[in-house]
Amino acid sequence: MKKVILIKYGELTTKKGNRNFFINTLKKNIESKLLGYEITIENDYYRMFINAKEEDIHNIIEILKNIYGIYEIVVAYMINNKNINVILDSSLEVIKQNDFKTFKVVTNRSDKSFEIHSMDLSQMVGGHILKNIKNINVDVHNPDVILNIEIRKDNVYLSTSGIKGLGGYPVGTLGKALLMLSGGIDSPVAGYLTLKRGVKLDYIYFESRPHTSIEARNKVIELAKKLEKYSFKGKLYIVNFTKIQETIYKNLDETYLITIMRRMMYKIAHSKAKSIKALALVNGESIGQVASQTLSSMLAVNEVTNFPVLRPLCSFDKQEIIEISKKIDTYETSILPYEDCCTVFVPKHPIINPSLKTIYEEESKIDFDHLIIEALETIEEIDLSKENKHNEEYL
Ligand code: ATP
Ligand code: MG
Repeated sequence: MKKVILIKYGELTTKKGNRNFFINTLKKNIESKLLGYEITIENDYYRMFINAKEEDIHNIIEILKNIYGIYEIVVAYMINNKNINVILDSSLEVIKQNDFKTFKVVTNRSDKSFEIHSMDLSQMVGGHILKNIKNINVDVHNPDVILNIEIRKDNVYLSTSGIKGLGGYPVGTLGKALLMLSGGIDSPVAGYLTLKRGVKLDYIYFESRPHTSIEARNKVIELAKKLEKYSFKGKLYIVNFTKIQETIYKNLDETYLITIMRRMMYKIAHSKAKSIKALALVNGESIGQVASQTLSSMLAVNEVTNFPVLRPLCSFDKQEIIEISKKIDTYETSILPYEDCCTVFVPKHPIINPSLKTIYEEESKIDFDHLIIEALETIEEIDLSKENKHNEEYL
C-alpha cells in the first residue's frame, strides 16, 4: 500500500461557478509552498491527492497546515487493485493502526463500474474487521474511528482520521488588499484573518526615522515575512512619514494629532492601494481599544477614503488577539520593545470625539497635498518573496 496525502477543500465546494478557479489556485499555492519536494498533484471536484516520497510526508503535512483553502488533510493508503479480498485485508491493516473499541465503515464509490454497492461493501468490510479483531463493536452514531473507503476509477483509497486544515479560501481567489502593518500585536493578526478569506496582501508601513529606529523597521519586515508563510509574493511598502508627522506635531492642535496623523496615513495608503490594484485597506483597529479607535474617531479618519477599510479585529478583545498572535508566531516579534511612529508622538489627551469642522480647520493650515505627494514618491519597496526565500524554512 502506498501512502498519499488527500486534501478536502471545505468551503470552496459551495462556490459552484468558480470552483475550478478556486481549485486551480489552491493547487498553484500548494505547489509554490512545496517547491523543492518531489510531488505530483491530482485533483477532481471534491478532492486533491498529493503523491510524495514517504519520508517527506510528515514535513509536507506541516506546510499544508498553513495553507488556506484546505479543510482537512488525510493520510490515505492507496491500493491499485480492486479485488475484494485485497480490499478486505488492506482495510483490516489500516484500521488496526488505530486504538479503538467502536468503529464504522463509510464507502464512497465514485467508480460506478465497481460491482459492489457502497452499503454492501461497508458491511462486508465491517464484518471482516469484526471477525479479525477481538472486543470491538460497530457504532454508526459515535464511533471511535471511521474507516473511509473511496473506490475511484484508478485506485482504492483507505483512510481513518484526518488533520484539520486552516479552512478559508485559497489566497489570491478574492483579490488583493493593502495591510497597514505596524510593529504591534494587532495588525499582523488582522492580516492573517484577512488572508483567510482568500484575499492576498501587500503591506504598508509608515516610519519616522530618526524618531523610529532601524530595529523597528526590521521588526515590521520580520512580521511581514511571518505573514507570507500564509501568503505569496507580497510586497512591503515603506513610507517615509517623518516630515508629515513632525509638521503635524509642530503646528497643529495637540488633541487632534493622532486623528490627523491617521487621516494622512489612510490617504497615503489609499493612493498606494489604488496604484497597486488593491481593492481594500486592512488594519488592526479594535473598537474602543484606544482613543483613535472609537467609532467617532474611525468615522473621522475613514472619511478620507472610499475604499473598504477591513477591520477583522473590530470585535476582538486584546487577549483573544494575543492568543492568535501566539498561534501564528508573530507575538514574540511584536513585543520587541522598539517604538513605532504612533507611540513616539502620543499626545497627553487625544480627542475621542473629533469634529470634522475642527479637522478641516487644522488641516487647512498646512499644504498636506504636497507632503503626501512627496511621501508617495519616496516609498521604498521590499519584495518579500525575493528577500524572504521562505521555502528554505521548510527544507
Ligand atoms: P498594533 O498593535 O497593530 O500596532 P495598536 O493597537 O497599537 O495596533 P494603533 O497604533 O492605534 O493601534 O494603530 C491601529 C492600526 O493602524 C494598527 O493596527 C495598524 O493597522 C495601523 N498602524 C498604526 N501605526 C502604523 C504604522 N506605523 N504603519 C502602518 N500601519 C500602522
Ligand atoms: Mg501600533
